[in-house]
Amino acid sequence: EKDAGAAVPAEALQALRSYFGYDSFRPGQAPLVSAILSGRDALGVMPTGAGKSVCYQVPAFVMGGLTLVVSPLVSLMGDQVRALKAAGARPSYLNSTLTPGQQRTVLRRAAEGWYQIMYVAPERLEDERFLEFARAAASPGGVGIPLVAVDEAHCVSQWGQDFRPSYLGIADFVAKLPHRPVMAAFTATATGRVRDDIEEMLRLRSPEVVVTGFDRPNLYFGVEEVPDARKGERILSFVREHAGESGIVYCATRKATDELAAFLGEGLAADAGGAGAGHVPVVGRYHAGMPLEERRRNRDAFVEDRIDVMVATNAFGMGIDKPNVRYVVHNNAPESIEAYYQEAGRAGRDGDAATCLLLWSGNDFRLRRFLIDRTPADERLAPDQREFGVRNRYRLLDQMQGYCETTGCLRAYILHYFGDDAAGAGRGAGGAGAFGGGGCGRCSNCLTEFAVEDVSGPALSALRFVSETGGRFGKSLVADALHGSASERVRQWRLDEAADYGALADVPVGRIKDVIGQLVGRGYLEQGQGRFPVLSLGPRAAEALDDPAGFSFSLKRRERRAALLRR
Ligand code: ADP
Ligand code: ZN
Repeated sequence: EKDAGAAVPAEALQALRSYFGYDSFRPGQAPLVSAILSGRDALGVMPTGAGKSVCYQVPAFVMGGLTLVVSPLVSLMGDQVRALKAAGARPSYLNSTLTPGQQRTVLRRAAEGWYQIMYVAPERLEDERFLEFARAAASPGGVGIPLVAVDEAHCVSQWGQDFRPSYLGIADFVAKLPHRPVMAAFTATATGRVRDDIEEMLRLRSPEVVVTGFDRPNLYFGVEEVPDARKGERILSFVREHAGESGIVYCATRKATDELAAFLGEGLAADAGGAGAGHVPVVGRYHAGMPLEERRRNRDAFVEDRIDVMVATNAFGMGIDKPNVRYVVHNNAPESIEAYYQEAGRAGRDGDAATCLLLWSGNDFRLRRFLIDRTPADERLAPDQREFGVRNRYRLLDQMQGYCETTGCLRAYILHYFGDDAAGAGRGAGGAGAFGGGGCGRCSNCLTEFAVEDVSGPALSALRFVSETGGRFGKSLVADALHGSASERVRQWRLDEAADYGALADVPVGRIKDVIGQLVGRGYLEQGQGRFPVLSLGPRAAEALDDPAGFSFSLKRRERRAALLRR
């Protein structure tokens, strides 16, 4: 966002060269490194793959002493340390995968000044023995702790998707040190609210905040609503079209992963028998229910291009820096835009064109809502915090659903979500004004022609219905009643006695739901949160109900499917 223009100290550039072999800093890195080296706190918000680690590793090498890196990704610490060692650095980590004896050895060596960097999980900071070590290290005569870097800093915020209560203890830990180190926080997923939380909860002191653009211009975004029964076929044909390319297909569950991998494997094997078959993609699978050994084998085969398509749960991908992934297909809608963008963003890291395709159906959202209700709450949280967490997850899911249902530019939707409107991404539900009015031109919505249909009548019926029945029912039930369904639920609540019952008998239920969804999006209706998201009148309802003749409401409709243009 802003480039402080501060010259990066020569030692920093030199460290970048000697440890990593890079000649220059990437956008955003230089101001963060400079700020840290000048003793200022820092907050870096950059998309995955932008190079956040360098922003604290380079200062760690330059500052001397021991830099602590707080990270929730215990399973990746070993890999990170190995990579740094290979680069000639002296890193370490301290977590529960080490035996107590190993942990003592690490702490002893750290106190003797062996290490430049130590990765720890946030829970570790609450450990008395560790606190004792850190206080000694930060005291006069100790090795010094010049910097505490917080990775995945959005975990400190309840507004984000990965709230970790133990992150709330980081600031207290730092406050107990005899000498306050510089604090630097990094995240790939901060909306405005999360960003404010990070500054507040980590008690950053007037940090240098750098937010780089979130746009990934080389990625094509596609969304398709596909009934569950047809998703397998759709993905199979996609994979065939992309034979010879490396890709990931994400599924919501382990079971679905196994099934889809088998389905694709069989379909592609049948191709192999056919005449003139070219390269037949090799399918692999990956989820946390598989033996570790098999997971490793598959991961390596994928990285080395011996597996073309990896069918996986979201357990796959973290810490895998494979540059030439050409597509990421989602078999289901993920639980949030954050999760989606992180997973989809594994495509095209090399900067070449790549495709991100999201298939969804209404069942995806039903399943996710069910899972949100069933997830046991973290017992360390107070009841109101738990409730907040549940409501928040509904909110994140609603925004994901908005992405699936929007007819506006998909890229504009994502960038706006992350508060990155610099690219000119528009705010309107229709994406009007996005990228100077024309949309990005590289997403399925921008490549679809939409017809505009006047739905003022149905919209008014829906508003009158909600007004009459008093905000007690959700979208599906309202749509059913307007359509004239005689279902048990409709009769149970005597909705068949409402004035507008059956008023939209000739409009398909799905279409009625679209209209209701858009009424919510444009402020005529409001949809509550929680398990039963009931509809009520929104702030603009009166303007329509008071002057029905003057009310006009239209909807865009997919005239023809965008040919799935790859690039
Ligand atoms: P993030 O943590 O933001 O997801 P990483 O720190 O893992 O990103 O970096 C992503 C990739 O970019 C790594 O392969 C890293 O070595 C590389 N990288 C980082 N900084 C630079 C740079 N200044 N020049 C070239 N490559 C870089
Ligand atoms: Zn677009």
